[in-house]
Amino acid sequence: MEPIIIVHGGAGDIPLSRVQGKLNGVKASAAVGQKILAQGGTALDAVEAAVVLMEKDEYFNAGYGSVLNLKGQVEMEASIMCGNNLDVGAVTLIKDFLHPISIAHKVLTNSPHSLLGGEGAKMFALEMGFSTVPPESLISENAKSALAEFLKHGEFGRTEIGLRDEGGVGTVGAVAIDCNGHIAVATSTGGMSGKAVGRIGDTPQIGSGTYADDNIGGVSTTGHGESILKYCLAHSIIKLMQSGNVANTATKLAINGMTERLKNTAGAITLSKSGDVGINFSSKRMAWAYIRSNKIYFGIEKDEILEEDYVSI
Ligand code: ASP
Repeated sequence: MEPIIIVHGGAGDIPLSRVQGKLNGVKASAAVGQKILAQGGTALDAVEAAVVLMEKDEYFNAGYGSVLNLKGQVEMEASIMCGNNLDVGAVTLIKDFLHPISIAHKVLTNSPHSLLGGEGAKMFALEMGFSTVPPESLISENAKSALAEFLKHGEFGRTEIGLRDEGGVGTVGAVAIDCNGHIAVATSTGGMSGKAVGRIGDTPQIGSGTYADDNIGGVSTTGHGESILKYCLAHSIIKLMQSGNVANTATKLAINGMTERLKNTAGAITLSKSGDVGINFSSKRMAWAYIRSNKIYFGIEKDEILEEDYVSI
């Protein structure tokens, strides 16, 4: 089958000033992942590389540019899953590494555990050869103003995730199917602006932020973490596909269901095992992109599907 990767750059009340940067970022990320798949690479390597690019990009709430907790610190989390054997790797409360998703990938391949957090995750990362970076080097000006804005006006979790013009949103995720039909999913985040120190959201929790099963499909989610994890949003979408819904219907049904029940917003990207695409969000905006048959498809507004000719990088 034709390999495919779809990526997202976070759901929320994204201000217009951040729209173009996010679109550029998701398009570049899809291109990096697609190149790996086109060269016969694995879905796991493709989703990691796509997410790594967005973790470096200030326009996204992951790696550099992550939003800040109430103490003004970055605390990141990430998860990755392989649909072939249901192997998973996840990390949480990461403060001084640029690429949580790469550490999560090592948890998947080199640890008997599924989720490592805080000091233990740091020890594991150092053992695996990752270098620390000064925690302050991960803090962007945008993240600082998002926290300042939150402290002035915010009420955690009651509103859209982005606050006014500061745009503290942009969890990133990728879902891919490689030429062997294997599915992988990766999701990485700085969480939500103004979160408590030590708060753990949906992103590192398998079934909430991430799910992959070669027999069904793959999903990466974004949005209000406390709602996503109560609803097991990624796995809810998988279950709806398993019971016969196409990817887009399953994604829409689960997101609407979560939003109606819990009164908070989310978004998700989905691939079914046969490569059909699902994209849906109940937030104001969500950036996404995928490449198929020499075209790149992308969007950020509701019901928007833009397309351009795509020449492989
Ligand atoms: N789901 C993330 C969290 O709650 C935030 C986001 O996707 O923007 O940690």
